[in-house]
Amino acid sequence: MLKVLPDQIANLIAAGEVIQRPASVVKELIENSVDANATSITVLINDYGRTLIQIIDDGSGMTNQEAALCFERHATSKISKAEDLYNITTYGFRGEALASIAACSDVILKTKRIEDEVGTEVHIAEGKIIDTSETSTAVGTNIAVRNIFYNIPARRKFLKSDNTELRQIISEFTKVALTRNDIKFRLTHNSKDIMSLTPTENIKQRIVQIEGKNAAKDLIDIHTETSIATVDGYVGNPQLAKKNQGNQYFFVNNRYFRSPQFNKAILKAYETIIPSGTYPSYYIFLTIDPSNTDVNIHPTKTEIKFENESAIFQILNASVKEAIGLGSFSQSIDFDVDGTPDFPTVNADFNNREKYLKSPKINFNPLFNPFDKEKEIFEKLSEEFEPQTQESLFATPLRSNLSEMTINENEGELSCLTLRGRYIITPVKSGIMLIDAIKAKRRILYEHYSAAISCNNIPIQENMFPEAIDIDAESFSLLMNYAQQLKNIGFDIREFGEKCIVVYGIPTILSDEKISARECINNLITDLREMEIENGENRVGNALSAQIKDKMALDMVKSDSISHNFSVSNIEARLLIDELFECKSPNLAIEGGLCAAIIPVGELVKFLN
Ligand code: ADP
Ligand code: MG
Repeated sequence: MLKVLPDQIANLIAAGEVIQRPASVVKELIENSVDANATSITVLINDYGRTLIQIIDDGSGMTNQEAALCFERHATSKISKAEDLYNITTYGFRGEALASIAACSDVILKTKRIEDEVGTEVHIAEGKIIDTSETSTAVGTNIAVRNIFYNIPARRKFLKSDNTELRQIISEFTKVALTRNDIKFRLTHNSKDIMSLTPTENIKQRIVQIEGKNAAKDLIDIHTETSIATVDGYVGNPQLAKKNQGNQYFFVNNRYFRSPQFNKAILKAYETIIPSGTYPSYYIFLTIDPSNTDVNIHPTKTEIKFENESAIFQILNASVKEAIGLGSFSQSIDFDVDGTPDFPTVNADFNNREKYLKSPKINFNPLFNPFDKEKEIFEKLSEEFEPQTQESLFATPLRSNLSEMTINENEGELSCLTLRGRYIITPVKSGIMLIDAIKAKRRILYEHYSAAISCNNIPIQENMFPEAIDIDAESFSLLMNYAQQLKNIGFDIREFGEKCIVVYGIPTILSDEKISARECINNLITDLREMEIENGENRVGNALSAQIKDKMALDMVKSDSISHNFSVSNIEARLLIDELFECKSPNLAIEGGLCAAIIPVGELVKFLN
């Protein structure tokens, strides 16, 4: 039988789209407060948003009729006619957030306008108003949302770990706080301050409030005006590109959005100057005539359609290149009739470029798993090998840096050949063995570090002067979540006020390597994030110790300076082969692929045919 669904069910369905988790409530309610011209917004969270999400603002407030009406679906004060849809300047316009929130939680709303003597209190349960009364309350709106999804068990089960839900809340809060540095924001969890942001003069200062003092070094101003769009904000210093993709934000007319396309435009600008596997941070604020955008294509409005997408792509790419000193961006771009910009060629300024060039870092495959045949291959390789290298003519320290080695060339008899200083070619019983010296060196270092790290008790090197490190709230909550497990593997990290940790100790093996505490912590944060992605957050606890040890070993190989233009002499090649064959998996490169392979005689003679 065909029938129109009752409002209550319709609202529950809508709630499924708009309200996916506690963070969605935080987003919608903060946006409402901004739309109501609040100058101060406080967000109180209990139990990761599961029991309480309360938002208090000093905005316009509502009349008593509005206070009851605002929970109706499609009740909005922000648009009134179809054309308004093409000129949206507020966050909200669909009038569905409050209806959706009320459909899946208990809500108490208190609100008062400046011109009213008394305020209104509305209590909603099961999507229906159960009580409305006059109340004394401050000017503005105060909404308390309790027990989210109490009536939708499936959705409750769908929630991720506490840690992840809190991080999502922080992330939504941050996205609005970044756009409105003129507003005072506060976020607390279980009555503890997570962020307290006073108004700032500019967005850069707001970023520093959120990300910590170090962020300032990583912000290069970007400003470009064209007839299609104005681009403002900050892009990351190429020298500070990170291993993770945090802190990449696009806003259009102050609304956060995601765009794989525009992300590509930015990454392309950095393509040749940052090591692969690292990412720049960026905070891009586009200002575009709202009639050239459509924010109505996605339930949470985080995907946006742009009229001139390809032109904006090019504008972004060129302005980032200019900002990081790679090219010049003409202020007077001509647009032809189709609206496609006629761009001046962006010429890379190579003198400037040099400034940013760093030796590329290596991309490792942390998922690497030695395959079963490994032992067999090792045995085969060793057996194949001619005696002169097996005999280890020179006793070498396991941890030797090739470039530092000083060996008397006359000491040994040479039987191998090096190619371009990097590849080692040496005859074996069944053909010719080819070794990539760089990959081999990394394999050797990796096994050395792994062995050192995995010895059961990792000694902690106590810091004589414990170092305080400012980090962003999200990373803070991630680290604190694993503090005990990290201690077991040698990191003594303790909480020190909001967004600040003190490093009392790091594993001795790391301190020996002269890696700074800050670098260790950054690596840890990245590793923990990657592990949560690989394992699912709830399972990281068990896998933490083994995996993090492995990642630590990989991090140490990465920070060892094996430059791409290193060259191996014949003598060094021989030593390297000795060391390689002491490894458990001499043929496998830690980045994936092989560091040593044999070309059989049969294959070689084919060249003569
Ligand atoms: P939308 O934001 O799309 O209009 P909502 O369901 O989020 O829809 O809110 C419905 C209406 O309730 C808003 O249009 C606004 O008039 C009113 N409202 C919601 N939150 C507030 C607030 N914090 N202060 C003042 N008015 C509010
Ligand atoms: Mg809204």
